[in-house]
Amino acid sequence: MSVCSDELVHLTEKGLYCPAGEFYIDPWAPVARAIITHGHSDHARVGSSEYFAHPSTVKIMQHRFAQTGSAGLPLFENVAGLGAELTAQMHPVPYRQSVNFSDVKVSLHPAGHILGSAQVRIEHKGKITVVSGDYKLSKVSSMALDDLTCEPFELVQCDTFITESTFALPIYKFRPTIEVVAEIYDWWVECARLGRSALLLAYSLGKAQRVLAALRQLALSGSLTPNFSGNFPGPIIVHPAVHSLCEIYRADGVELPDYQVMGRHSQASSSQGNQLSMSGSASDSSKADTFQADSSHKNSSHKNSSHANSYESNSDLDLESKELESGDNSSVLKNGGALIIAPPALAESKLARSANVSLGFASGWMQVRGQRRRRNVDRGFVLSDHADWQSLTKTIFATGAASVLVTHGSSGSLVRFLREHGLEANDLQTRFEGGE
Ligand SMILES: [Zn+2]
Ligand SMILES: [Zn+2]
Repeated sequence: MSVCSDELVHLTEKGLYCPAGEFYIDPWAPVARAIITHGHSDHARVGSSEYFAHPSTVKIMQHRFAQTGSAGLPLFENVAGLGAELTAQMHPVPYRQSVNFSDVKVSLHPAGHILGSAQVRIEHKGKITVVSGDYKLSKVSSMALDDLTCEPFELVQCDTFITESTFALPIYKFRPTIEVVAEIYDWWVECARLGRSALLLAYSLGKAQRVLAALRQLALSGSLTPNFSGNFPGPIIVHPAVHSLCEIYRADGVELPDYQVMGRHSQASSSQGNQLSMSGSASDSSKADTFQADSSHKNSSHKNSSHANSYESNSDLDLESKELESGDNSSVLKNGGALIIAPPALAESKLARSANVSLGFASGWMQVRGQRRRRNVDRGFVLSDHADWQSLTKTIFATGAASVLVTHGSSGSLVRFLREHGLEANDLQTRFEGGE
């Protein structure tokens, strides 16, 4: 690594640090002042004193940190998660509004990754560094917006661009959301015809809401065939972990279709009037620990594409109880016809293995040959909240940056490609996971 300490932002033990402004970006250890790009758990960690983030990200963090505390799952070994959310100072920073730290000017710009996701623009003495966090670009689509759940990526000119590289291999080529969600719809219709339900595994923060919003858009467009009386072949049922995040999305103006919550009264949840209350986390700590141990193993191992072989849990919410109490939804589940959206942790649940359920998984990793079979799912839908190879390279050149630092993912191939094209490119060994 040839990153010298006079860079505006450099890598330390605790994460990316800007010494001139005395702040960290997405630190993985507790710090005094943290700027957070987005709410995924490998970027937004509990335990710091002060947080600066987009208002939606602040809401997501408050929700997640409270869950962390109540579930007794501190994300740092040396900090008791309990109560940390109460002492941390949260500073909501809207997009394009600048905050000054000494003579360093900081602003957040849409990253197009999930609700509230931001790139961090850092300006000091006429030099600009942008930390991308996780990002994706809109794909050409018949719809006005490709991802209806967040503001589209904004290109920011800079001298140094710090980019993710989760899917930085030419084999990754993602399609417009609406095309993939139309395939999910067709699969759901086919399942219903066979008297089965479709269980779609999707990360509870971001992916689940993106699929839901696109389904609603499909229904509104009137392009669904066959045409069911209620647009869909049956009810949509979501896992409580998905539901609690949907509530944050709805509060911030993202329109989602009506759905029922797994194990709750089968009353529809809608933006018009939702009487459902969110109970505390039902995590089974022994199961959660299994995942915790798994993820710490991942942290210590060298990052390469082999982590595609294991289920990535990009949110502690995904650790919620793997077994669902079917409760009031049981009759629906018995009769088939439902689309159930749940975190990947439910892959091994009884529900997933039951005879009248077809199992699908929505993830960028589904593009990798053999992944569907390896993960033992019936259907794989290639849907990622990260930029594909073409988007990454296009964006990097468009920023005008002469220097590029590449973080989590397939950094080697991207660094090589950028150097071949005359840019100064280096690898940064961060601890972001890039699973979603
Ligand atoms: Zn992310
Ligand atoms: Zn990430």
